[in-house]
Amino acid sequence: MSESKKFTRINESFICENCKKDVLMSPGGKCRNHCTHCLYSLHIDINPGDRLSNCGGMLKPDFIEVKSNKNIIHHRCLKCDEIRPNKCAEDDDFGTILKIMQSSKLK
Ligand SMILES: [Zn+2]
Ligand SMILES: [Zn+2]
Repeated sequence: MSESKKFTRINESFICENCKKDVLMSPGGKCRNHCTHCLYSLHIDINPGDRLSNCGGMLKPDFIEVKSNKNIIHHRCLKCDEIRPNKCAEDDDFGTILKIMQSSKLK
């Protein structure tokens, strides 16, 4: 039974598969869908929070778009190449956000 649990509980702390750091639960009970340190995510949703995708690939933060004062991370799946926009969380590492913004400008 423990295996199905991890697909239904969507707001819990986890270890990031990319940087191996602890990602803490989101304050305010919001759905945590990416690492707050390196901003990597996992391709496990079809729609945000549903955990219905069978892909399971790593989602790399490809570039960041600023839309009406909100940062939108565009994640690219390293397995199926799908691009998924994702809102930044308030506690995302700002240094990482800046780094991704810089590197996407250089492309
Ligand atoms: Zn990470
Ligand atoms: Zn994928």
